[in-house]
Amino acid sequence: MAKLPGKTAYSGVRRTTTRKSGFKSHPDSTGGEYKTESVTPILLEAGKTLTFVFNFPRSDGQTYVGFGGFYQCEDFVQITFNNPNSSKNEFSRRTPPDTSKFGSMWIANGLSEPVTISFNSEVDTYLAIYNFECGLIWHEAFDAARENDQTGYLNSMHSIMPEAGFYTEDGQVSFNYESPLKYINPNINLHLKSCNRCARFLPINLNNERETLAFSNHCVAKAPCTHKGFGLLTNIDTGEAVDLHYGYQLECRFCKKYFVNMPLNWQRTAAQMKEDGQRRRNFELLIAEIYQQSPQLSYRTQTGRELLDDVWSRFKGQCFNCNNPIQNKRKMHLDHTRPLALLWPLDGTATALCATCNTSKRDRPPSQFYSPQQLNQLSLLTGLSVEELTVPEPNHEVIKELLARLDWLYEDFLTKPALLMERDGKITAELVVKALDKVLRRSQQVEYDFSFVNEYNRRRDSHITFDINEDTDSVV
Ligand SMILES: [Zn+2]
Ligand SMILES: [Zn+2]
Ligand SMILES: [Zn+2]
Repeated sequence: MAKLPGKTAYSGVRRTTTRKSGFKSHPDSTGGEYKTESVTPILLEAGKTLTFVFNFPRSDGQTYVGFGGFYQCEDFVQITFNNPNSSKNEFSRRTPPDTSKFGSMWIANGLSEPVTISFNSEVDTYLAIYNFECGLIWHEAFDAARENDQTGYLNSMHSIMPEAGFYTEDGQVSFNYESPLKYINPNINLHLKSCNRCARFLPINLNNERETLAFSNHCVAKAPCTHKGFGLLTNIDTGEAVDLHYGYQLECRFCKKYFVNMPLNWQRTAAQMKEDGQRRRNFELLIAEIYQQSPQLSYRTQTGRELLDDVWSRFKGQCFNCNNPIQNKRKMHLDHTRPLALLWPLDGTATALCATCNTSKRDRPPSQFYSPQQLNQLSLLTGLSVEELTVPEPNHEVIKELLARLDWLYEDFLTKPALLMERDGKITAELVVKALDKVLRRSQQVEYDFSFVNEYNRRRDSHITFDINEDTDSVV
């Protein structure tokens, strides 16, 4: 089996910096931009079969496994597609110059079988491929769906591929062919449109708008679409404007589904609120004990200034979200810009919010609360990159400390009486170790081969600690 050539690195290496998909993006996207992507087609020789093989990394049963891509070939090309892992697949077949797409995603525990797609023709012809990718997939929107009781939004996941291909760990795409691959002229021009939410450029069929790919149409019954941005696209390289008949949504199908359609219910139930509060308090406590001082104190030690003063002047005494002036410093709410749920302490990157905005933001990460414009502004004010604000990494420094001090964590911190108390049928210490495992799962830059829950159970089972019914009086 050979490695696939081309610009994209099809390595099995874990992506280190971002959870973005392999598609290009531009931070200032409004959804009204498009560009041309030139693809050099493969020569599909008469009688020979070209088979692409998608090999997946092992999955933990929590993360999605998926693959997908875009292609263009003549109607007479025979395509054989085989996905032994799932019967639900997105697979379209369109006549050139229209582009087609395929893909799927599913939950698996362990190793998924390789997926194959084969192209065969009786005469020499071309095959253009774009963004053939596979791997493990995760996006914060999936967590948001679960946390907001919107699990219906996790059905039919195959239907939003390949645009939902936010790969957290790459698989390998390889191919089988009887002879070395040859490429032919001329190049095929694909058209990509920007999404105003994720800022990626994703394929559209510019000359046949109803053959939709990554964006749905805007006005179908009421065509022609005369809405600016929806019905009029501007080429970001040439400035050329294209008038569309049906127009496209500003958001890609993925963003439309999770960031426009899915109702987020941040008014959580009383029990959930209590759990949130406990987790928050205990994470605050854990971080403070790790750093051995309160965030305010450590800010003073590091800078010689007061955290409250600095945030107040940086945000000019205004709420960052609604811009209303805040009465005074004491009325200002400091929001963890990087989530406490990922073990970030309150520090110099804090955001100034009014009481109302602070309540409505709750634990949401910045990208689920602020607009793209606000994110850019917040990045300038806090010095955190837009990427860090959009896909925050856990605080690896704290994780490293925790892993180095497991005995302290399990036998000292988690055995505090308040943590061993049962509330609503749940032991707080167990909520904490579960929340810690969630932190590890969200890491992109470091792969942790550890589970705080397993370690908790292991220690409990071996009776090292946690026997809250232990009757010390009877020890002889
Ligand atoms: Zn999008
Ligand atoms: Zn329209
Ligand atoms: Zn406000």
